[in-house]
Amino acid sequence: MPYHDGAALSTVYSAARDEGYGFFASNVTQFDVLLGLLRGADRVDADAVVQVSRESAAFYGDGDPAVGLDAFGAYLDRVAERTDVGVFCNVDHVHLPDQRDFLDTVVETGFASSVMVDASDRPFEENVERVSEAVEHVREGDRETLVEAELGRVAGTESGVETAEEDAFYTDPEQAVEFVERTGVDLLAISVGTRHGVASGRDLDVRPDVARDVDEALRDAGHDVPLVVHGASGLSDEQVEAFLDAGVPKFNKNTRYQYEYARTAADFYHDHADAVRPPAGVDDDRGSMFAGAGWSPDKTHFHPHVVGEEVRERLADVMADLSDLTGSAGQSLYAGR
Ligand SMILES: [Zn+2]
Repeated sequence: MPYHDGAALSTVYSAARDEGYGFFASNVTQFDVLLGLLRGADRVDADAVVQVSRESAAFYGDGDPAVGLDAFGAYLDRVAERTDVGVFCNVDHVHLPDQRDFLDTVVETGFASSVMVDASDRPFEENVERVSEAVEHVREGDRETLVEAELGRVAGTESGVETAEEDAFYTDPEQAVEFVERTGVDLLAISVGTRHGVASGRDLDVRPDVARDVDEALRDAGHDVPLVVHGASGLSDEQVEAFLDAGVPKFNKNTRYQYEYARTAADFYHDHADAVRPPAGVDDDRGSMFAGAGWSPDKTHFHPHVVGEEVRERLADVMADLSDLTGSAGQSLYAGR
């Protein structure tokens, strides 16, 4: 079925929170990654939330994010029709105020199920002001689109913005209630000790208890606002489970998929380094699989579709496992519809 708007996504997150499961919202940096993730979600009957950043939109548009977002949206719409689950797209990290023109593009394209606007590196009052304006702007659009914003500060590098460890801090529950009431956001990204980018091997002081306190404060104040944890690639399975238990239904993941892509392609070409063969009488003394133009490729391994298919299958397996971990497997609200 085609991908869905914010109203449908809101229903999906509500069901997840009621039943205690969640989603990895998955950044798509390349089309084989997208198709692999959808294949995996479809295989285990999990609705899928994919994400595209301005950076990736620019990549798809060969430097032009507006062209790239439009092309990505058209592609996603068509391939989502082939799945038997709900497919949603979040536009990730539109940094305010410097990427405000890209928010115009998102609204004009009418493409997103949700969009994250990020002024979390600004002082509280400015964050409130910029996000409020963005929420108003998004609601003027034709398509119903949820808005996510962030309160607190997550360490690491995201869309070129670097936040040092010592500048990161946890989200305050009371401030979260005030932020939601003043901005009208639909989802709230909180800072709970994760990092953007890779965090494996680091000792993260992750705080599911902070997530629980923020969730409870919002519920007590009468707000049905799902929480989001960014930088989830660095979390262990146990930590993800602890955040699910604390009421978090959305986890942003990006780095893991980039790693799986590179690893799968590197392993494949390493295993098939002889897929390009020297002409008769020429010594095979190359250091890599590529040599002179006179060498002939064995297309059963050399063709880009072959490694692309390897990547898709790997990402499908990863998505299926991750859907088991978050409990979204078997829970599609759209399976068979
Ligand atoms: Zn993020």
